[in-house]
Amino acid sequence: MEHKKVIVTGGNRGIGKGIVLSLLDQGYLVLATSRDSKKFDMSHQNLEVTNLDVCDQASIDDFQQIVNDFDPDILINNAGITADNLFLRMKDEEWENVINVNLTASMRLTRQVIKGMLKRKSGRIIFISSIVGFTGNPGQANYSASKSALSGLTKSIALEVAARGITCNLIAPGFISTPMTDKLTDEQKNKIIVKIPANRLGNSEDISNGCIYLASDEASFITGTTLHINGGMSMI
Ligand code: NAD
Repeated sequence: MEHKKVIVTGGNRGIGKGIVLSLLDQGYLVLATSRDSKKFDMSHQNLEVTNLDVCDQASIDDFQQIVNDFDPDILINNAGITADNLFLRMKDEEWENVINVNLTASMRLTRQVIKGMLKRKSGRIIFISSIVGFTGNPGQANYSASKSALSGLTKSIALEVAARGITCNLIAPGFISTPMTDKLTDEQKNKIIVKIPANRLGNSEDISNGCIYLASDEASFITGTTLHINGGMSMI
């Protein structure tokens, strides 16, 4: 494979790290972003790392030049946060932070990369959504809304750029074992596992395998869609 170039946001841990490692294995050149790139514990000749705080407008503005220089074929919008609370107790700040990171920042980064893709008449955009963007989840009104909104964003972008050789898709993970889900107690995890027909939490490779497929030439006719990777928890 020619060395295609891919940007992965939040690539330093969890699902993002798994995606970065799988892409490197497949021969991609990877630019992985993190809020503190010094904390990257990976090194590889095809890996570049850079600081990016997707909540910080100045950091996003600075990133445009990095995008222009790197000229990615693929963007994987993986960075995401939770700030759970019951809806009636949810503070505006909890709402805004989650919407900013999960939705608004992904939109801004996509706008930054898509100009180069349009010129090249090829590209792949992948958003990491979530099962709860489709099912809802108590205590996660902000998170579910942010992930659900990515569906409309994905479909609209897909419609606008499909004729220019660019695909735009979502991956909706179920419950995946990462630092995000490590916050759950064993009791909470066991309650989730009984609802998963595959009888286990997913792992980051389950998600990176989906990214590898959607990024590939073989997926060139797949756009505006969602790949649900959830062990059968919700057959949507
Ligand atoms: P994680 O908390 O381990 O990693 C999140 C990543 O996002 C980290 O690299 C973090 O540094 C980065 N990030 C957060 N805020 C940022 C900011 N302001 N600027 C830049 N980077 C920022 O979580 P994860 O489980 O690996 O989640 C990765 C993605 O998968 C997220 O979008 C999450 O919503 C989604 N997801 C996770 C699960 C799961 O079960 N773990 C399920 C469905 C969807």
